[in-house]
Amino acid sequence: MPATTNGPARTPALGGARQPSPGALRDRHGRTATDLRVSLTDRCNLRCTYCMPEAGLPWLPKPTLLTDDEVIRLVGVAVEELGVREVRFTGGEPLLRPGLPGIVAAVAKLEPRPEISLTTNAIGLDRLAGALVEAGLDRVNVSLDTLEPERFEALAKRDRLAATLRGLEAAAASGLAPVKINTVLMRGVNDDEAPELLRFAVDHGYQLRFIEQMPLDAAGVWRREEMVTAAEILDSLRTVFELVPDPAHRGSAPAETWLVDGGPAKVGVIGSVTRPFCGDCDRTRLTADGQIRNCLFARGETDLRGLVRSGADDAAIAERWREAMWGKLPGHGIDDPSFLQPARPMSAIGG
Ligand code: SAM
Ligand code: SF4
Repeated sequence: MPATTNGPARTPALGGARQPSPGALRDRHGRTATDLRVSLTDRCNLRCTYCMPEAGLPWLPKPTLLTDDEVIRLVGVAVEELGVREVRFTGGEPLLRPGLPGIVAAVAKLEPRPEISLTTNAIGLDRLAGALVEAGLDRVNVSLDTLEPERFEALAKRDRLAATLRGLEAAAASGLAPVKINTVLMRGVNDDEAPELLRFAVDHGYQLRFIEQMPLDAAGVWRREEMVTAAEILDSLRTVFELVPDPAHRGSAPAETWLVDGGPAKVGVIGSVTRPFCGDCDRTRLTADGQIRNCLFARGETDLRGLVRSGADDAAIAERWREAMWGKLPGHGIDDPSFLQPARPMSAIGG
């Protein structure tokens, strides 16, 4: 019987059984991955407590990082050989990668052209948004957990709220649409701010999505009992807004959405823990050091960097990628007693 959690009895990341080939990135539970998350760096200029310790982490050694050309080659294999249709760049903080505009431009030339998006804390986006749009960036998600400068500093250990807000404005001004905001609420830190954040997003035309905090912090201190749940977030929003379930089809989108005060503004809640959407997951992940992860919570990875550097052709890379995805487990298993937090924190996986 296949393993159902990521705990010790898990199926190895690398296949373990024959899988269909050639073709798309299928798994043995009937899902097909068409959405690629590419981490461009494990470094960051913030230290959000749910993600990275204040002292930082031992960064990946430079020689292990994929070069810009290697990233472009692997994304090319994903798009042209494996049916990937959406490419999202993330990190760490992807705006810290000097080659980002060039990578985006090269990916925009792939056939068929994938949709290209970025998840960022937006620090520096005021300088880069124009170049990124020109390169082919289609959409951006900006992480913003509070509108209060002191809280921002307490939460992210850096006094950079103004820089994030400048980046948000620049994203909208440069024509990126819709601009989405990702918010993680933490109990006793910013969980009273949900309605203010939604008011801010509605007033500025941003689409806000709350994300339940997941056990992906570097210190491993996440506790389910302390997590602010999707139900609590909705209750808090409903003290101020009327929320009606969005009639639009959700598809494989992780966020459940609601119309705010009759619409057209919407708010999303990503209940990764209490309302998991693993059954509809369409994601595959490439880390900054060239490892495929078939799930955020996978405990195994599949090395593509070594394959690329050993001179493998695109067909061999595609085959290794298919094998990696074939071994994807049906769910993250956070609620299972045998669940083990992945060795890499969110910043090194790519959120
Ligand atoms: N630095 C960029 C940013 O913050 O948007 C991109 C990387 S960050 C890891 C991507 C997303 O993951 C952010 O929206 C962040 O809030 C979210 N995230 C990080 N750690 C998380 C955790 N433990 N649980 C839920 N979301 C988390
Ligand atoms: Fe950096 Fe993003 Fe992690 Fe915050 S969530 S520490 S901005 S990588």
